[in-house]
Amino acid sequence: MNTQNILIVRYGEIALKGMNKPYFEKTLLRRIRKGIGQRFSKEGDAQKPICEIVDGLIVVRGYAPGDEEALAQKILRVFGVATVSPAWELASREPIDIKEAAVQWVERRLGRETGAAGALVCPERPLTFKIFGKRSDKTYPITSPELAAAAGEAVIDAFADLVKVNVNDPELRLHIHLRRKNVLLYEDMLKGFGGLPLGTNGKGLVLLSGGIDSPVAAWYMAKRGMAIEAVHFHSYPYTSKRAEEKAAELADTLASYCGRVKVHILNLLPAQEALAEVCPENEMTILVRRFMMRIASRVAEREGCGFLVTGENLGQVASQTAEGIAVTDRASSFPVLRPLIALDKIDIIERARDIGTYEISILPYEDCCTVFLPKHPATRPAIGQIEASEGLLGAVRIAALEEEALASEELYIAKA
Ligand code: ATP
Ligand code: MG
Repeated sequence: MNTQNILIVRYGEIALKGMNKPYFEKTLLRRIRKGIGQRFSKEGDAQKPICEIVDGLIVVRGYAPGDEEALAQKILRVFGVATVSPAWELASREPIDIKEAAVQWVERRLGRETGAAGALVCPERPLTFKIFGKRSDKTYPITSPELAAAAGEAVIDAFADLVKVNVNDPELRLHIHLRRKNVLLYEDMLKGFGGLPLGTNGKGLVLLSGGIDSPVAAWYMAKRGMAIEAVHFHSYPYTSKRAEEKAAELADTLASYCGRVKVHILNLLPAQEALAEVCPENEMTILVRRFMMRIASRVAEREGCGFLVTGENLGQVASQTAEGIAVTDRASSFPVLRPLIALDKIDIIERARDIGTYEISILPYEDCCTVFLPKHPATRPAIGQIEASEGLLGAVRIAALEEEALASEELYIAKA
């Protein structure tokens, strides 16, 4: 019997797109190919799998069976992917072949359940199963329920007491999907993150600290299709090199979703020192944050980013009161996106764990925000007062400090 191991990739929201659907499909296909390519790019690797759209379904084929798991995991990180199913593609649509394939699928599962490679031993209790039939080709002479029933009977004939039908809560849910040119068998639907393919919605510059929030904010924007670059500020030598490495490590994790993340690493210390010399201590956090916004705006302009992205979250800390955010916002020359603004910290942490940034974020290295941290930060700053404090430094000095920070730039390119 001619069966081939394949991966079926389904997309969610893209399916709702009207006229633009082909554009989104093509971009998603390109993203999946890139994601797969990363695994198969090394010299001497097995041949690259083929990824194509067949009858409205994205299918990946032509890989070694041992690669299936890793390949599926890669694809699940591609934004726009709703689910992935490891499947068998059957070239024949003859009922006899479909039944045989169903039997083989269950046999493989039984072997796995009982821990025996090949030989089946009697499990403690029968494996419960249900077969679901689906027919895209309505001209096929057998209906979906008939197909499922025939395959189910063949499975019972083959394995007798080792299996048992359970229509309500089966352990094995085998889907048989009859299509125009072939038949697909699959069981699991591994869940992806959904969203939209990267690169379909502009480019944002993320202010990436070493904390929990900003990597999650970056991830959320990328999930909606926004290409991501990052800027990280440090206060070396007040902060250690490890703090910068931590930001780079976070970017590496983001790159496992985005493919590549360019990180601009800048020294903010001269600006912080200058502010500390002349400005009110309780305004330091907000003044530093505004410096970050101005410098990031310059980087965004140079790099062709249309937005800034931060991990700010309403009311989380003293600088993120409604007033604090409003005053911070005014220092940016680009729209500032704050995808976490209304989330609870507990949900942000859960997401951070889920996407793999949490363990890096909690490493205990000093952030540049903790340098010159005021004892009693202003929680209700007014724009007039803050601008007056910046006036103490003067526009010329501020511009020079921005230049100095920009001149300190080091680049890190995170790759998946
Ligand atoms: P995070 O967990 O992202 O650090 P936080 O709750 O610690 O967030 P703040 O330190 O007040 O919040 O920072 C608010 C936002 O400002 C961050 O989410 C990030 O976008 C930006 N930011 C803070 N520190 C830095 C930094 N060192 N480099 C770049 N951006 C920063
Ligand atoms: Mg922080």
